[in-house]
Amino acid sequence: MSFADSSNYFFEAAANMLELSDETITLLSQPYRELHVQVPIKMDSGKRKVFQGFRVQHSGARGPYKGGIRFHPAVDLDEVRALAQLMTWKTSLVNVPFGGAKGGVNVDTSVLSETELEDLSRTYFENISHILGIQRDIPAPDMGTNEQSMAWMMDAYGAKHGHSPGIVTGKPIALGGSQGRTAATGKGVSIVIDNYFRNNNRSLKGQRVSIQGFGNVGLHTAKSLKALGCKIIAVSDVSATIIDNAGLKIDQLEKHIVSGNLLDSYNGAKQGNRDDALIADCDILIPAAIGGVINDKNWESINASIIVEAANAPISPYADYQLTKNNVAILPDILANAGGVIVSYFEWTQTIQQHWWTIQEVDKELQKMLTDACEACFMIQKEKNITLRQSAYYIGVKKVVEALELRGFI
Ligand code: NAD
Repeated sequence: MSFADSSNYFFEAAANMLELSDETITLLSQPYRELHVQVPIKMDSGKRKVFQGFRVQHSGARGPYKGGIRFHPAVDLDEVRALAQLMTWKTSLVNVPFGGAKGGVNVDTSVLSETELEDLSRTYFENISHILGIQRDIPAPDMGTNEQSMAWMMDAYGAKHGHSPGIVTGKPIALGGSQGRTAATGKGVSIVIDNYFRNNNRSLKGQRVSIQGFGNVGLHTAKSLKALGCKIIAVSDVSATIIDNAGLKIDQLEKHIVSGNLLDSYNGAKQGNRDDALIADCDILIPAAIGGVINDKNWESINASIIVEAANAPISPYADYQLTKNNVAILPDILANAGGVIVSYFEWTQTIQQHWWTIQEVDKELQKMLTDACEACFMIQKEKNITLRQSAYYIGVKKVVEALELRGFI
């Protein structure tokens, strides 16, 4: 099953519950627009190299398209298509006035120099810029891109269209970014977990957590959960898993990775293989790297009783079905990692109004919007006796269909 087929599988289940017409299903199971661009850049060696770039706009029913840009060797049209659809349900579920989109370039950034990376970021953005706009499509960072990438992209767009800081979110604060955006996705993951535990009258104190992926999302999830009393016993990246059943020293690990190191050179804990984080003996497993990592081959080795999808689409439909049957609770991506797009929305409004919020205001609003979304999901889950993923999709899809109907599309 392709990545896009997997995301359609969850959408179609919601469509059945909502009794959507065949035409509506056709409209929403495919993107509105797909753009594939060549991205030629001059390498430091003097030779030209051509990369493949994509921007997919899934649905703009509820507002301008919104979604991150991924630089990764696995990026292709199918993956970007699936991720764009997820964004449509996510923005709808958490009530931000956007549609869904995603972009990406098929590239291994680890072999590029800084100059090559800057050239790639600028050229890709210029080549997709004719379908972007502050009220049309607003990209953000995802895997392999960060604040610096957004600064280059904003600048490339500005060179053609005039200074336009609202064209991206996830910018550096010095260029009009929002307080709290960098940590927002990870902080949001911890807010959703906290709500889940409160809803089940359970305490988070002492819960043992394993996190796959220790980049932006993994790091900030670890910091926020530690602050809530959890014990982070394993984290992994592309190079290794590191494990300490007494609890890892997250501050030390942060210093290690922000200096550009991978986890396989960290000496403060036991080393394991890259995929050991997934099968660690823990209470909460948090995939925070790539898609499809929990699948028909490894679902039986998972030890956690709660899986929180900080990454997009980390669990295949088959594994989702089997794990649910085995009473594993799954907090779905469109809810669990929505903190990023919520604070992106705050950044967009701040940039448009040229009026800046404090970190306290950002955190308070983030907490409120995610808590409201969690409560809505828990309510529908209970009312209809369905899983949290089904309930999140039900709410997300329903609001998009309502917007389509009101605008006269269906
Ligand atoms: P990142 O590039 O900052 O970090 C990715 C991490 O995953 C790195 O530590 C990398 O080494 C690790 N990794 C990659 N492949 C791996 C593998 N096979 N096994 C183990 N580790 C691996 O990316 P990020 O921004 O933290 O994004 C991570 C995930 O979160 C992605 O699925 C992304 O779509 C999702 N997400 C990100 C945001 C955001 O605001 N950045 C928002 C919502 C969702």
